[in-house]
Amino acid sequence: MQLRIPGPTPCPEEVLQAQTRQMINHRGKDFAELIVRLTQQLKTFFQTTNDIYILTGSGTGGLEAAVVNTLSPGDKVLGISIGSFGDRFAEIARQYGADVNRIDFEWGTAADPDKVKQVLKKDGPFRAVLVTHNETSTGVTNDLAEISKVVKETDSLLLVDGVSSVGSIDLPVDRWQCDVVITGSQKGWMTPPGLTMLSMSQDAWRAFEQAKMPRFYWDLGKARRFLEEKKQTPWTPAISTLYALGIGMDMMEKETLPKIIERHTRTGAAARAAVKSLGLTLFAEEAHASNTVTAINGPQGVDVKKMLQLMREEYGVVLSGGQSRLEGKIFRIGHLGWVSEADIEEVKRVLQSALARVAPTRSAA
Ligand SMILES: *Cc1c(COP(=O)(O)O)cnc(C)c1O
Repeated sequence: MQLRIPGPTPCPEEVLQAQTRQMINHRGKDFAELIVRLTQQLKTFFQTTNDIYILTGSGTGGLEAAVVNTLSPGDKVLGISIGSFGDRFAEIARQYGADVNRIDFEWGTAADPDKVKQVLKKDGPFRAVLVTHNETSTGVTNDLAEISKVVKETDSLLLVDGVSSVGSIDLPVDRWQCDVVITGSQKGWMTPPGLTMLSMSQDAWRAFEQAKMPRFYWDLGKARRFLEEKKQTPWTPAISTLYALGIGMDMMEKETLPKIIERHTRTGAAARAAVKSLGLTLFAEEAHASNTVTAINGPQGVDVKKMLQLMREEYGVVLSGGQSRLEGKIFRIGHLGWVSEADIEEVKRVLQSALARVAPTRSAA
């Protein structure tokens, strides 16, 4: 099977093997070494000297941790949304009682930093701005450098969903002054699901001291105390996934971050070229098209679900459909983590065959 969805992503054999190792005591010496090493290693890929925490949970848990550790009920925040993950981040803040103002951009487009600037001026000040770096549901990467500039002209915190970009698309956390950045093990890390990793700036920690939202499992104060004092996590961590992440990151270190980013740039470009060469159109505006996921408009007269089923059952290639309001309308190719241009070639070949079968008249034209 070729799993070409934007998470979980395929894992190299060495990473899978790491998961078969025997358990260790999470209150013992071996674990202390493991958690310290992995936490340190992550800083290279986050391009930061900020604190990093590895928490057991999925990316959404990381988003929730970012919100509840920096905000209080009633805090005015700005949720920038360009798709369903932007909606989710804003919704978490709303559920916990933040006063969420929203700027929504048309799905398939990126957030316009000038519009964000206007809203910050007109409706601010905001305690925090919530933004998705790479919107996996629409295949769009926001111009985070520019968004950060306008946000950092104010006193607002910048909370960034980098779940499908950290370690694959350039996201220099320190240079772009991002206060909290969240990612997940099953995206660009060539690792199975189970862990969410996030960075906390000094300003984020200052906000933490004031933050009154209820929290228990996601309390980063506890995570910080356990890591500093005991080199442990407060709760039992996903030890097998930590083993896997260690091997995945060793492989990433060998390749180096600049080369990984370059590989994703090439693979992203290859995916877009492949799609267009088959006469299909991109859902995302091309200037902001993502290098980790490509969203494609369902061709006219084609039942997208049937086409994906055919690709899966007869060719062993698994792609994603559309999420929420894009269900049945688009499909997506995931190309993050363990991926090469040859993988994209394979997807193209299979997509071409499947299209010829589900829309014979179209391909004859
Ligand atoms: C996958 C993803 C999430 C959610 O991650 P889960 O691990 O499924 O909770 C959040 N944001 C983005 C941008 C994602 O790609």
